Amino acid sequence: MTKRASPLEHEAVTGRGSADGGAFRHVSSARLPTAWGEFTLHAFENAAGQEHVALTVGDMTAGDVGEESDTAKKEKATAPVLSRIHSECLTGDALFSLRCDCGAQLQRAMQQLAEAGRGILFYLRQEGRGIGLVNKVRAYHLQDAGADTVEANQHLGFDADLRSYDVVADICRHFGITQLALMTNNPAKVEALQRLGIQVPVRLPIEIQANAHNRNYLQTKADKMRHLLQTVPKPTR
Ligand SMILES: [Zn+2]
Repeated sequence: MTKRASPLEHEAVTGRGSADGGAFRHVSSARLPTAWGEFTLHAFENAAGQEHVALTVGDMTAGDVGEESDTAKKEKATAPVLSRIHSECLTGDALFSLRCDCGAQLQRAMQQLAEAGRGILFYLRQEGRGIGLVNKVRAYHLQDAGADTVEANQHLGFDADLRSYDVVADICRHFGITQLALMTNNPAKVEALQRLGIQVPVRLPIEIQANAHNRNYLQTKADKMRHLLQTVPKPTR
């Protein structure tokens, strides 16, 4: 059985600088049993007071690999870590919305991490691709009248995607992670991480079967946001 690092050990690592220049810190960690297995929940805070969490399963470092040889430890320490970067979607994650694929992707990612026995889920508090919950409802209202997800955000005065992944780089540094095997359909996410110094040598698709409510949304993500989706037709323009 793998030994867990105690929350107190994690408490010691605080006050690191963040990629955006502010003070990023790890606040606390605790057990998080789930339907798919037991994770460790880690809470972080940046200088602006924004709160983010990461869920880990297994050990993120090479320091606890039992009887393995030094070579095996080194390989484990540098191997890409199975991961998912999930931006908060209250409607999809907690309210079972079928307007998007977020909730199903979150569940599948947690299941795959638990099955793999080692990996990390970054759960970033940037609702609605960064526009916030209330504006997301405004955007949904416009979509009910015929706009697509990109047009709706732009109509409200926002860019199509305001998400930032700086905190992912901070959390990777906290755990000593340098390479990710990332579950994503979004090449822009991979490019953003690489600009932040996180290597992503492996991209793993995480596709959810489209339904009548999210088919247009997925089509827009494929057409306008370069998402790589097999379950929707190829871009038409
Ligand atoms: Zn969503």
